[in-house]
Amino acid sequence: MTAITLDRVLVPFPDLPGKVHGIVSLEPPRVQCDGCGLVATGANLNLLILTCGIKFNTRGGQGWEKRRLCSGCRGAS
Ligand SMILES: [Zn+2]
Repeated sequence: MTAITLDRVLVPFPDLPGKVHGIVSLEPPRVQCDGCGLVATGANLNLLILTCGIKFNTRGGQGWEKRRLCSGCRGAS
């Protein structure tokens, strides 16, 4: 397994053209939280998306969540 590193970034990165929202880099693969700016970096994009915990289209109290959020932000909203 590859390690995932987490960094808090104050500036939102733009999405990559043609990629799913929240994927902000491919080299290296990076996914960013819309709530707090947390960026997860891993060696493999698919594994990163599945395991980093920054998810979108999760079911929230107000219906479907359209932002991509880390577990802390999902719990706070
Ligand atoms: Zn967050």
